[in-house]
Amino acid sequence: MFEGAGIDVLVVVGGSGKGHEDDGSAGGGDLADGACAGATDQEIGTGDGLRYPRYGNSPNAEIVQERVAALEGAESAVLLASGMGAVACALLALLRPGDHLLASGAIYGGVSRLLGGEFATFGIDVTLIDPTETRVWRKRLRKTTRAIFLETPINPTCRVIDLRPVSYITKELGIALVVDSTFASPVNLRPLEHGADVVIHSATKYLNGHHDVLAGIVCGTAPYVEEVRQKMMVWGQAPDPFAAWLLERGLKTLDIRVARQNENAMRIAEWCATNSAIGKVHYSGLPDHPDHEVAKSMMDGFGGMMAIELAGGADAATRFLERIRIFRHAPSLGGVDSVVSEPRFTSHAHLSSAERARAGIPDGFLRLSVGIESAKDLIADIEQALR
Ligand code: PLP
Repeated sequence: MFEGAGIDVLVVVGGSGKGHEDDGSAGGGDLADGACAGATDQEIGTGDGLRYPRYGNSPNAEIVQERVAALEGAESAVLLASGMGAVACALLALLRPGDHLLASGAIYGGVSRLLGGEFATFGIDVTLIDPTETRVWRKRLRKTTRAIFLETPINPTCRVIDLRPVSYITKELGIALVVDSTFASPVNLRPLEHGADVVIHSATKYLNGHHDVLAGIVCGTAPYVEEVRQKMMVWGQAPDPFAAWLLERGLKTLDIRVARQNENAMRIAEWCATNSAIGKVHYSGLPDHPDHEVAKSMMDGFGGMMAIELAGGADAATRFLERIRIFRHAPSLGGVDSVVSEPRFTSHAHLSSAERARAGIPDGFLRLSVGIESAKDLIADIEQALR
């Protein structure tokens, strides 16, 4: 349905429209009847119409799945309870005991704990590498490597990994390239177009966009997504139907939200780059960013995520957070309101100061998730917080 439609159409009505049959509303945002497994939905004498929330087939979940699959250019997608649930089920559907996973070491802290701790108990070996060293991917492959996992852009350093050289390896070997594309959203990057096989999002972030939903999604081929769905059901990782309803409503504005966030982040990054209280600005839209050319050739927008390093270090960061007004000091990202977080107390709290500095996150590092407020006001807010 809607073949050839642009992203601005797909975010609003993409997918087959299944689940909307009985809602009678033009807006399509209703919590469709039967979202909570009404017994009357099932046909007597058959399994047809069987709905149960843990099967992940609430009407709104089905709409979201089809819409995000359309946005990513994937055959199919499955919605899960969280981004963590999505990563876990996506990888468990690919890996068996004895298999090896080659992964980027620059990944979200929760995923890092999943790969580094939990997977070993299943007999799955994981090697973490520096994803910016393109040649290392091939060097660290084993005969048992079944998949490569990476995140791009990277949380929180905003480095952008070129998917194309990695995908040449995965295609040559017939293994899966799995990409966590949470920071980009499909408006800015569609990894399948650059050789990835599987795309994952923490839908908690840009896809929903309002900091009021926890969800995750996995996109790929229909048979693979079915495997992920089976994992989701038995591991209890299905999305709550109400979260699916909220997410469907949030998705409708994804395109205009992200366009505004891209624009705002670019203006803020340019301003920050000229301020002496800020030692370094991490934003791939800036021409001197190490991944500017990669981002320009692979992405449709540089995104709403950026980071700044305050010249005054940890004390300056504390003072900044005490003074900032419009940006909320909170751990999430990708929503309409601007948010600032300090990774040394959130995703990277488990590392020492020296380890964080080696990972490109020195004390004084602040991650900004730029919202849809006016860039002028956001810049004024940063300026007064730096004084
Ligand atoms: N992937 C990335 C890049 C993230 O930033 C996060 C959370 O911040 C996750 C995965 C996990 O998502 P969730 O919090 O929805 O479980």
